[in-house]
Amino acid sequence: MLDVAIIGGGLCGLALAHSLQARGCDWRLFEARERLGGRVLTAKAGDGTPVDLGPTWFWPHTQPTITRLVADLGLTSFEQLDDGRVLHLCDPNRVPQTVSLTEQLVPADDPSTPATAGAVHGGARRVAGGVGAVIDALALPLPGARLRAGHRLEAVVDHGDFVELRLRFGEASYSVNARRVVLALPPRVADASVQFVPDLAPDVRAALQATPTWMATAAKAGFTYSRAFWRDGGHTGNAWVSHAQAMLSEVFDACDPPEGAARSPGAALAGFAALNVAQRESFARGRDLLLESQMVQLFGPEAADPALQPQRFWHDWALDTETCSPIDRASDALPVGSHPHHGDPVLAEAHWDGRLHFGGSETARQGGGYLEGALVAAGRLRRQLLAGTMDTFRPREAANDRLDVSERDAGNEQHLERFAAWVASEHGHAMARYRERVHQALSQQEADGLTQRSVVSSIESIYVAALQQLDTLPLVTAHLSVENPGRCALTPRVLELFTGRADQLLADAVIFNNTSCALSNFPFEHRPSGDYVRSIRRDLASAWQSFSAAANERLLAKARSVVSA
Ligand SMILES: Cc1cc2nc3c(=O)[nH]c(=O)nc-3n(C[C@H](O)[C@H](O)[C@H](O)COP(=O)(O)OP(=O)(O)OC[C@H]3O[C@@H](n4cnc5c(N)ncnc54)[C@H](O)[C@@H]3O)c2cc1C
Repeated sequence: MLDVAIIGGGLCGLALAHSLQARGCDWRLFEARERLGGRVLTAKAGDGTPVDLGPTWFWPHTQPTITRLVADLGLTSFEQLDDGRVLHLCDPNRVPQTVSLTEQLVPADDPSTPATAGAVHGGARRVAGGVGAVIDALALPLPGARLRAGHRLEAVVDHGDFVELRLRFGEASYSVNARRVVLALPPRVADASVQFVPDLAPDVRAALQATPTWMATAAKAGFTYSRAFWRDGGHTGNAWVSHAQAMLSEVFDACDPPEGAARSPGAALAGFAALNVAQRESFARGRDLLLESQMVQLFGPEAADPALQPQRFWHDWALDTETCSPIDRASDALPVGSHPHHGDPVLAEAHWDGRLHFGGSETARQGGGYLEGALVAAGRLRRQLLAGTMDTFRPREAANDRLDVSERDAGNEQHLERFAAWVASEHGHAMARYRERVHQALSQQEADGLTQRSVVSSIESIYVAALQQLDTLPLVTAHLSVENPGRCALTPRVLELFTGRADQLLADAVIFNNTSCALSNFPFEHRPSGDYVRSIRRDLASAWQSFSAAANERLLAKARSVVSA
């Protein structure tokens, strides 16, 4: 009987397969589509120029796992072209204006403030050859016979000491028995497309349904050309379109790196659809024409010049049942930029006595929804499966009194890791909270100082919740030491988790304000001045000081309680 069946050949499933293979485990991977990669999809123009129609970026300062994987696979990564300037088209009857985020975020008269090249994309990096290169590099060393593309899971039946998987391959249905099964799928897709016998417990069903699939309702366009003509005019390729007839809301340079062996022959731009799912359906017939005319309006007539061999690509993820569940499609509520709920603890547990595991990026506490989350989830699954194989599952907290020193360190590390995941997740939601506060303030006609109040209160609410988390964090306190004067040894480790996050929220908020039609009536908020941004930074610095002092106090209190015990 097969030991581990992995369902889903996206980044999560493939990364898990890779690590199980390295440890000599017996596994098979079943993928419903005819291709591997899931939401990773790199299209290729006739001359081989790649353009990503799924994920494009990773952010090394907050996403260590994907950053390490790209390097470990020997792939070339490079910075997204971004000098802090962006073309903004807010009226279809006018020419686009260049907005400089650098000027807004970094006042020219403040030389101490660091430069903000990269402000539009927050320091994002890309993979040469497209993100598909990661999938290819992961799949290449795996035995082909273990990778089954075109095999769709329809049902999982628990038989007590093994699970039966009912699969479909073309017209044929067949069963495979396995000791454990991992569903490396978006949770809502697992809920909608797989039958569970016996049915899942109500809290598990609820957790699956409550976890939206990141970008499931997005559609993306790619444009390849023989030459990056927009750079001739000094454009980076970054553009936002915020008028009501926009086809694409955001466009960016999607060329391969300017130098190096991986450089592809052509050039590319890519962008996200501005229309929702229903509008996309009604505009389907005229779509190509409308896309072309928007690109011409942004970048000039060369965008449609046959001499530049233009090719167009389009992928509507809402039409893929392997990505977009009926609940995702019906809600279609997630604008690009607001990050949904993810990392439900129920989904991170093993079910059916360790025979059923849920994976996929959305189950990760850290980086959930992103490429990072897919790898974090794969790491958690690997640990669970290997622990199950060695039959060493036991609750850690209950066994604390029997732990030796190295195990206690590992316990502390685990708690800090969990806290780090919580911090990342809270900050992942910070922008959505900011937007909520802005809309609430606008609906109550309280526009005065709205950006300042909304940014600062979003950050303060995270600090308040973080202190509560620290109170309950079951650190193995016997291993805490106190440094003089009055600083707990763990304080820097805890505080570093927050480094740069408030600045990031402020940068994101300014970008959001720039593109918000609702804020265009409030110029002071729509385009915050250097003075205004400085004043917000001062408030953020003061909130940070109070928080860091309070966090240190809490950690010291834990240490003191051990000394006095
Ligand atoms: C348009 C778009 C842009 C994005 N941009 C970014 C970005 O810039 N940066 C970033 O970090 N992330 C981005 N993401 C998110 C990123 O793509 C995902 O986080 C990541 O690819 C998820 O990997 P996964 O393996 O968890 O899930 P998936 O890639 O969804 O893999 C799940 C797999 O399961 C398969 N499957 C489904 N049902 C069954 C079944 N019944 N039987 C067998 N197989 C099944 C699917 O076909 C799929 O291959 C973007 C996503 C999209 C769609």
